[in-house]
Amino acid sequence: AAKQSGKNRCATYDASFDERVQRHNDIMKKLRGAIHRGELDVVYQPIFSRTEDGDLNVEGAEALVRWRHPELGSVSPAEFIPAASEAGLTHDLAVWMVGRVARQLSQWRELAPALWISVNVSVKELHTYRFAQAVSELLIEHGIRPNRLVIEVTEHDFSTQVATLIAQLSALRGTGVSIALDDFGAGYSSLNQLDRLPIDIVKIDRDLVAKDDGGLGDLAPVIIDLGDRLGLTVIAEGVETSRQLELITARHSPLLQGYLLAKPMGASEFEAGLPGKDAQRATERSAPRAAA
Ligand code: C2E
Ligand code: MG
Ligand code: MG
Ligand code: MG
Repeated sequence: AAKQSGKNRCATYDASFDERVQRHNDIMKKLRGAIHRGELDVVYQPIFSRTEDGDLNVEGAEALVRWRHPELGSVSPAEFIPAASEAGLTHDLAVWMVGRVARQLSQWRELAPALWISVNVSVKELHTYRFAQAVSELLIEHGIRPNRLVIEVTEHDFSTQVATLIAQLSALRGTGVSIALDDFGAGYSSLNQLDRLPIDIVKIDRDLVAKDDGGLGDLAPVIIDLGDRLGLTVIAEGVETSRQLELITARHSPLLQGYLLAKPMGASEFEAGLPGKDAQRATERSAPRAAA
């Protein structure tokens, strides 16, 4: 590329820019029918607790959407979620995800009565109260208690006034589902959100957990401690090395999620890894819930 003339370089840049715009538009167009064509799927990434002896127990799972298009191949949610948002499809996607998860929970009711599952939702979705309504209806339809479901929202797409956001999250939380603040510590996180928002769980972003050398980020223990003090359940995301695992559990006991422990997987693989009914300790546990 360094040998290219200025003119060519310019042409190359334009072409790839055009390509990106075209792909984005293409994705937006194709995404509209994706749900109905059955192109979307859900994978589950286990979330573990760790005992003092070092045993790992599955407490819950994060549901992550996957899209396999016949021509585009598999498209990462990091790429198509923004397109979904622009195409006005966040409601359809969120409702579809909650429906799938509720159905899955009902299928696993016998096998894993204490399991909870989290679903990611764009904050945009909260602008309408019909989401809380839709969630309630889907849970009733599948006979699932709301304390089996967690809704994850990401701080970086908070564009709303905090007061509005608090009202919206409260309405959702009022249905009995738990709320997780996702990707905390990525970008410009505001510490006082932790204190002000009606949330139950804080998920510490991978960037805070992982150092390039495989060690633990210096701020991770501080944020875990802060979450603990505020009465929140802390989940450390993106645990990739055993060194991170050891350091992060040395003084605290956050819940753990990351490639070291388990990658996202299809429902049947997840099911195969569940300990089975007899091994479930307390069937009355619910998804993490903060006091107030
Ligand atoms: P997220 O909610 O923070 O989800 C965690 C992402 O990190 C997932 O990527 C997961 O596969 C990945 N991950 C988990 N453990 C590790 C690890 O140890 N190392 C590394 N490098 N990565 C790890 P995924 O599935 O590609 O999703 C990316 C993002 O797309 C999610 O980030 C979430 O913001 C969004 N997303 C996924 N599914 C949905 C959905 O159904 N609805 C909405 N609105 N957003 C979704
Ligand atoms: Mg998430
Ligand atoms: Mg996250
Ligand atoms: Mg993340």
